[in-house]
Amino acid sequence: MSMFVDVAKIKIKAGKGGDGAVSFHREKFVAAGGPDGGDGGKGGNVVFVADDNLSTLMDFRYQRKYIAKPGENGGGKKCSGKNAPDLVIRVPRGTLVKEAESGLVMADISGDEPVVVAKGGRGGWGNVHFATPTRQIPRFAKPGLPGEEFDIRLELKLIADVGLIGFPNVGKSTLISVISAAKPKIANYHFTTLSPVLGVVSVGPEQSFVAADIPGLIEGASEGVGLGHDFLRHVERCRLLLHVVDVSGCEGRDPVDDFEKINAELAGFSEELSQRPQIVLGNKCDIAAPEQVESFRSYIEEQGLVFLPISAATRQGLKELPGLVWQRLQDLPPIQVYEKEYVPKAQDPNERRFTVEKVDEHEYVVDAPWLERILAGSDMDDYESLQYFQRQLADSGVLAELIAQGVEEDDSIIIGEYEFDYVF
Ligand code: GDP
Ligand code: MG
Repeated sequence: MSMFVDVAKIKIKAGKGGDGAVSFHREKFVAAGGPDGGDGGKGGNVVFVADDNLSTLMDFRYQRKYIAKPGENGGGKKCSGKNAPDLVIRVPRGTLVKEAESGLVMADISGDEPVVVAKGGRGGWGNVHFATPTRQIPRFAKPGLPGEEFDIRLELKLIADVGLIGFPNVGKSTLISVISAAKPKIANYHFTTLSPVLGVVSVGPEQSFVAADIPGLIEGASEGVGLGHDFLRHVERCRLLLHVVDVSGCEGRDPVDDFEKINAELAGFSEELSQRPQIVLGNKCDIAAPEQVESFRSYIEEQGLVFLPISAATRQGLKELPGLVWQRLQDLPPIQVYEKEYVPKAQDPNERRFTVEKVDEHEYVVDAPWLERILAGSDMDDYESLQYFQRQLADSGVLAELIAQGVEEDDSIIIGEYEFDYVF
């Protein structure tokens, strides 16, 4: 039996920008043409799109790395490299994209607009940009910048106005199938609902709401995942909960006990969710004794909650349900959209971490991504850029570390794709 997959961890990496070209104009009988190296194209973004045909994050179990294409390198004759296409990742509507380490929200994929989560690198300038009156033969161009990359956690939090909650087998799936066009699996055993089902319930012309039947609480218990807390993530956005209770006690449990257990689960998940408005539906009234229904009703009403006796099987009480829910929704806040919390780390001077490793007699490797970014964005033939770079080496302590490890004149210093000779 496949489990319902509603979280996934993946890596995304946007494309590197294409490199600028070094090239010179050539024509028959023309001795030396000017520079004509074109710019590199932009690297592809990694973009997320909501897809209503998806209801789980299952696919992300099998593919965990998503890498967008690099921009094309620039060419001669001022030819710009092509921009790379975006890499589009389709996810179920309501998927949150979180930065894996901090858990901060990067995007809430609940609307229709595609969302760029990792930006592709800018293309580098070709040498055509670097000609000046004093430098007519620029023999350099800029490399493209690296694309952003993130480890992310995807979390599905369904978009629905109303969430059905309750023990397995109390009739949640039956209910959604009779009040909407949704067709979930219904069976007289536990563990039936393996992926969430959304149904549109129409109330009147132009009036409708969306209800969600989620993989049941406690259904994960047999797999040793406790009481299946995690599934509550799916009702976190719901504005109203329909708490379905089997009032007939046909499975040998007590309705009051069921009701309290589920509420304890809500409270264990979050204080906020335990405060979420509920309407209590006493289901299976067709096989319950009237006294059972009435004693449960008075218990619920004592708590100040609305109680509706129904039978999803015989449709008793279902006529007034959509209107009742609709009325209640009018006073409730709209479906929550999660704001972006993640802010890319600013270049904090105290955060310029690095390692220096002597890899050979005259060779050192400096591992410092921030330094690579500076290098990628600067032109080492330019005096000011070079000075800035050297200042970074000194201020960050990289230089001191090289000296401490015994660097000598003309030793090679390797920083990412770059290699330098050490000169005093
Ligand atoms: P869920 O696990 O909460 O989704 O429950 P299901 O909708 O799958 O229903 C579980 C069983 O209870 C099925 O055999 C249904 O036919 C039955 N059932 C659902 N609603 C009623 C009802 O109102 N009366 C009776 N007698 N049986 C019902
Ligand atoms: Mg079900």
